[in-house]
Amino acid sequence: MPEHALDVPVSVGDLRRRIGDLSLRLRTSGIQTKPAEPRFTDYDKIRLPSGELVGRKKVIIMSGGCSVPTCTMCPFTNFNNYGIDGGTSPESLLDQVRRTLARTENEPAYEVLSLYNDGSFFAPREIPRDVQVEIARLVAAAGVKRLVVESLPQFVTAPVLAPFVKALGGVQLEIGIGLQSADELVRETLVNTRVSQKSFERALAVMAHLGVDPKIYLMIKPPFLTDGEAVTDVVESVDYLTGLGVRGMTLCPTRVSRNTVAWELWQAGQYTPPNLWTVVEAVRRVHERLAVRVACVNLRGTDFESVFPDACLSCADQVVDALMRFGESGDAADLPADCSCRPPLEVIALDHAAITARAAQQLNVLERSGV
Ligand code: SF4
Ligand SMILES: [Zn+2]
Repeated sequence: MPEHALDVPVSVGDLRRRIGDLSLRLRTSGIQTKPAEPRFTDYDKIRLPSGELVGRKKVIIMSGGCSVPTCTMCPFTNFNNYGIDGGTSPESLLDQVRRTLARTENEPAYEVLSLYNDGSFFAPREIPRDVQVEIARLVAAAGVKRLVVESLPQFVTAPVLAPFVKALGGVQLEIGIGLQSADELVRETLVNTRVSQKSFERALAVMAHLGVDPKIYLMIKPPFLTDGEAVTDVVESVDYLTGLGVRGMTLCPTRVSRNTVAWELWQAGQYTPPNLWTVVEAVRRVHERLAVRVACVNLRGTDFESVFPDACLSCADQVVDALMRFGESGDAADLPADCSCRPPLEVIALDHAAITARAAQQLNVLERSGV
């Protein structure tokens, strides 16, 4: 008899622990500290909430990586110094930011700086408090108009945020928070992120009080869900966010990267990233209620190791281009029309008992194959 047969009720707490343990066990970043310089720098244009199109510099600095790296699909902390003692010193963090801000002659102009660290900017284990505030001073002195960082909500508290906002002076702060899903089972067990509804809502209130803009990320089709469930999950999450007064949101269709639970499930034939037409359907169903961008689907030409949402050879590139155009214009006319490859999609309710049982079975498959 398998450990978790379908007719045996599966405890959600038990499932969460099993998934979290597996996620951590799969983590790796190698054994050597990587060079103390940003691992990614890029320039593009983004639309501000005011509608203005401005230049953005996006940088990912080397830190210790995410200090709570339990998420089943996230490869980022593997690219950083995860698990390496002394991965990054305060001096190195400041030095990377100073070099990021030093404008060079041929550099494209930018007003927005997205400063990411493969984790939570406000987690003291990742970026010490005094370093956070010093970074704010450096950014303020460099003529940047808007700073974007990311953080889990439990680190976004008034005592941490108030001195940071003060040191930023006139620079507008935006904090990206990966809520991933408003559904507790999907968020805390399937995605396995440490984000409670309480800490999320408390962080939003703290940010509103200090004039900080939220940028909320939702996933499309986390591991263990089907495409039909994924659309429901996005729609219900948007209902929740609009109820809280959130106006903008970024959808992240799952990509499957090495050293993650998603990768092992994919290898075992238990999971595929969402079809690109599922992404389009999710956008169609929510865009009228708030501004939507789709992230991470246009990396197919740069990340050859991961498995991305896909469709057929004749439409995939056009669908991705259309989603990118839509992210800039917000105009539904930019969404792609149709393709004969579009699979039937049965959008169904989230049946927690069925999802829990299926996830336990899929974990059993991984365990039996020695993962
Ligand atoms: S998604 Fe965020 S919280 Fe989750 S492991 Fe990745 S960096 Fe950490
Ligand atoms: Zn097609």
